[in-house]
Amino acid sequence: MEGALTARDRVGIQDFVLLDETTEVAVISNLKKRFSKDLIYTYIGTLIVSVNPYKDLDIYSKKQMDVYMGVNFFELPPHIYALADNAYHTMLTEFNNHFILISGESGAGKTEASKKILQYYAVSCPSTTLMNTVRDKMLMSNPVLEAFGNAKTLKNDNSSRFGKYMDIQFDSQGDAVGGHILNYLLEKSRVVHQNHGERNFHVFYQLVEGGSDDLLTQLGLERDVQHYYYLTQGECAIVSSINDKNDWKSVKNALQVIEFDETNTNHLFRVVASVLHLGNVHFDPDSKGHALLKNNTELNWVSDLLGVDANSLKEGLTFRKIEAKTEQVLTPFTIDHAIYVRDALAKAIYGQTFTWLVNRINESMENKFCTQKTEIFALFVVSFEQFCINYCNEKLQQLFIQLTLKAEQEEYEAEGIEWEPVQFFNNKIICDLVEEKHRGIISILDEECLRPGDATDLTFLERLEEKMGNHPHFVTHKLADKMTRKTLERGDFRLLHYAGEVTYCVVGFLDKNNDLLYRNITNVATQFKNSLQKLTEMLMAKEAWYIRCLKSNESKQPGQFDEALIRHQVKYLGLMEHLRVRRAGFAYRRKYEDFLKRYKPLCPATWPHWRGIPADGVELLVQHLGYLPDEYKMGRTKIFIRHPRTLYATEDAYEK
Ligand code: ATP
Ligand code: MG
Repeated sequence: MEGALTARDRVGIQDFVLLDETTEVAVISNLKKRFSKDLIYTYIGTLIVSVNPYKDLDIYSKKQMDVYMGVNFFELPPHIYALADNAYHTMLTEFNNHFILISGESGAGKTEASKKILQYYAVSCPSTTLMNTVRDKMLMSNPVLEAFGNAKTLKNDNSSRFGKYMDIQFDSQGDAVGGHILNYLLEKSRVVHQNHGERNFHVFYQLVEGGSDDLLTQLGLERDVQHYYYLTQGECAIVSSINDKNDWKSVKNALQVIEFDETNTNHLFRVVASVLHLGNVHFDPDSKGHALLKNNTELNWVSDLLGVDANSLKEGLTFRKIEAKTEQVLTPFTIDHAIYVRDALAKAIYGQTFTWLVNRINESMENKFCTQKTEIFALFVVSFEQFCINYCNEKLQQLFIQLTLKAEQEEYEAEGIEWEPVQFFNNKIICDLVEEKHRGIISILDEECLRPGDATDLTFLERLEEKMGNHPHFVTHKLADKMTRKTLERGDFRLLHYAGEVTYCVVGFLDKNNDLLYRNITNVATQFKNSLQKLTEMLMAKEAWYIRCLKSNESKQPGQFDEALIRHQVKYLGLMEHLRVRRAGFAYRRKYEDFLKRYKPLCPATWPHWRGIPADGVELLVQHLGYLPDEYKMGRTKIFIRHPRTLYATEDAYEK
């Protein structure tokens, strides 16, 4: 045990449940104390809070993995391996499904955490040849997905621009026999536009920097990232922390492991190259201001690489075709419109390729060998555009409060201890505001996108104002009182999320929700809502484990603990709520055997050996220590202690 509890002054407390007082101040000061000692993990019961150290710590070695294998959760310092190991063993002993939910804001360490967990399973699960292949594919899908789905942003040099949910299927011996990845909401807009200081998806730079001379010639590419319009808008194509050339090698290698043959690999690179060429297709105005192609070279490359007819492509980029009953009418585009269509095409090509890629990876990891019932283990990493992120957090908050309460209640029942109801803030009202049919923000957005004619971001805002009127969690410039109005721009709306107020600017909402090429078939936000709904149902049927990642500072520096930033995240991630629920009844619980093993020296009747039933030994022990009847309860397999201070007293006695 990490200096057990008496070391709490030195290294802080390793489980927040044992804090004297559950205030935000106490929680943050404990995090800070631990962070200064490079102790980045702290528990709330079985939930892990992780603070990004922005430096390599020597805690992920094979040796460390061995230490955590099969060990009781609370016997060692908190570690992501302890959670991984515990979840795995619980799955094998209880034959049920589990998921690990990893959340936190951009740059907080979610992707790193998920990789550490996969690595732990790769090393610690029993190994057979069959499993090795599934395992290798699972690990190797990462560099490929990161190349296509991650990009440098202001917040994170390797930011995941898509949501990922990953299943690992185990057979009853604990072998990994299959896997599945569900991706959603790739940030396609990045393909055609990057903000200052940000890049496009890694793979473009990797190809241009790392591809062989032969390959580049085949694809008609120049070895110069500056040459490509889609790569240079952020003015930071070259980043010191990223080695595109080396990463290219890893990606090529990984593609082999996940069974991409030459044909497939070739297709993939052709598509990537075609997007770069497409970005360099420019237009000049004719005498009437209509769009004309500037030159045909780039367009011919696109046509060649994708195998589509060059003339049709040209026509599609510069004319709107309306098919009437007997005739076709071609209306020329303005330059702006032509650019819009070009970008929409680039986004669609890339988006479809990403989906295809994920499907191919899934096929290669499919459970082809094992027909027996398998246990499923899911890794879920949360990350998308802001509105969706916040909505998702709102939903997940609702879910995890329900799950935590449910788990608590079940444990009490299983142990035969009376359940005391817990008060908590129910955020259903905010979830409804976003997702309710016909009345919620998402519905209104979809309606506005489908409305023919002159729908704009501002008409969307007006609709919201009409429908939301005086909703207590919604405000805009027009609806606000005098004081609040000063803090809102005209194009803003503000939601009062459970974690605090967030102001959204409506500019771009319609566009993002509306994929020009698929206007009739998709409502993106609704799709997202539905997939979240499905996900929620799926997760409710599984046992939940949580990793909450916190970002220590905005400048990606080691050793810096920005208290204001941490406070914001503690709030945003609902940590205090979780802690309150977890501590509502009995803060501490331990199996009789474990409790006895540690504290038996404190009582003559149990020292050096207790030969009777463990529960009886514990009863003698706590009576000897003078526990009052209200301070603890004896369950079927565990002792429950109401307040941490009772345990501290015991621990202090133990140290003496
Ligand atoms: P996004 O939402 O943008 O994808 P994220 O939460 O996935 O962000 P990561 O990419 O996992 O963030 O982490 C960002 C960076 O922080 C990493 O590239 C790494 O440099 C550093 N980092 C994260 N976790 C750790 C860790 N446990 N040890 C050392 N460095 C870490
Ligand atoms: Mg990430």
